[in-house]
Amino acid sequence: MAASAGPEIERLIGLLSKLPGLGPRSARRAALALLKRREQLLEPLAASLAETAAKVRSCSVCGAPDTRDPCAICSDDARDGALICVVEEAGALWAMERSGAFRGRYHVLGGLLSALDGVGPEALRVAELVQRAGAGTREVVLALPATVDGQTTAHYLAERLAGSGVEVTSLARGVPVGGDLDWLDDGTIVQALRARRPA
Ligand code: ZN
Repeated sequence: MAASAGPEIERLIGLLSKLPGLGPRSARRAALALLKRREQLLEPLAASLAETAAKVRSCSVCGAPDTRDPCAICSDDARDGALICVVEEAGALWAMERSGAFRGRYHVLGGLLSALDGVGPEALRVAELVQRAGAGTREVVLALPATVDGQTTAHYLAERLAGSGVEVTSLARGVPVGGDLDWLDDGTIVQALRARRPA
């Protein structure tokens, strides 16, 4: 057992280790890096975290994090409000935005259906999507991961949206199986979006 670094630092390490991709060992390294670079890293990060916690909320329309509600995308009149792209999390939205290929709006589900993890439709922003689809939407593009849960969710949403009069499409499979959207290069996203097909 390693000697304790003191309760404050242990707490910092404990919180850091809950971040995706950081285990206890890398959390320790990150904590040390922060402590070593107090002015360049630790203090600006603390201020940024406090500001984010105080100002950033989920958009009540699409679920994306932003400092305003509705968010910048939902309040942008230059975007096609009748075209909605459904993503798992905001990371996929940011990837789509980096590609610059999509001029519609988004709907962030907040996760995927998962029988294994006991995630049902009520845990996701499904009802909100069905409601938006019924309110003047022309097309819903399902941009969900090519994983079992992603495809289960896509099927479920296509069924829920059938009969609402909207066209439901999916990204073409330039997206690698098991691939997370936010890992893709912009060109792949542009292609997958252009070649979308009925879901
Ligand atoms: Zn929004």
